[in-house]
Amino acid sequence: MDILEIRTYPDIFLSQPTRPIENIDDNIQNLIENMGTTMYQAPGVGLAAIQVGVDKSLLVYDVSPRDGERCLQVLINPRIISSEGSIISEDEGCLSVPDFRSDVKRAASIIVEGYDRNEKLLRIEAEGFLAVVLQHEIDHLNGILFIDRISSLKRGIYKKRILKNLKKS
Ligand code: ZN
Repeated sequence: MDILEIRTYPDIFLSQPTRPIENIDDNIQNLIENMGTTMYQAPGVGLAAIQVGVDKSLLVYDVSPRDGERCLQVLINPRIISSEGSIISEDEGCLSVPDFRSDVKRAASIIVEGYDRNEKLLRIEAEGFLAVVLQHEIDHLNGILFIDRISSLKRGIYKKRILKNLKKS
């Protein structure tokens, strides 16, 4: 199993929408394994394929406690079919947006449909932290980063910092 390179802002690859997966073949199964390895190693609680350079509608996540048993969850071609209420996810972060966290307004509860790696149709009713993780990862599949959902003032501060660092290196 390989650790994949995680693309980071301002890589424009991250801002494009992904394509649905038509065939869950060996390549996809391999990609899922490698994405899991990469996510745990980072460490993170979620990872979308676009973050490792694959423009396909696939994400992995694991919200089980860090010191508990790992349980990799896979969602293929997920769609949010309903959302309700709103919460502020505190200090949201992203492996593709290093060294920055912000509060983000998210739906409080959502229903997601998608497929698991065995082509079984899943319907997930999520609230709280899981709802936030799924909204964050599904955003990735639509080319949206969490910094696209914060005030332009806050985003501007981060962009400036990133550009300064890029010039230095
Ligand atoms: Zn992210």
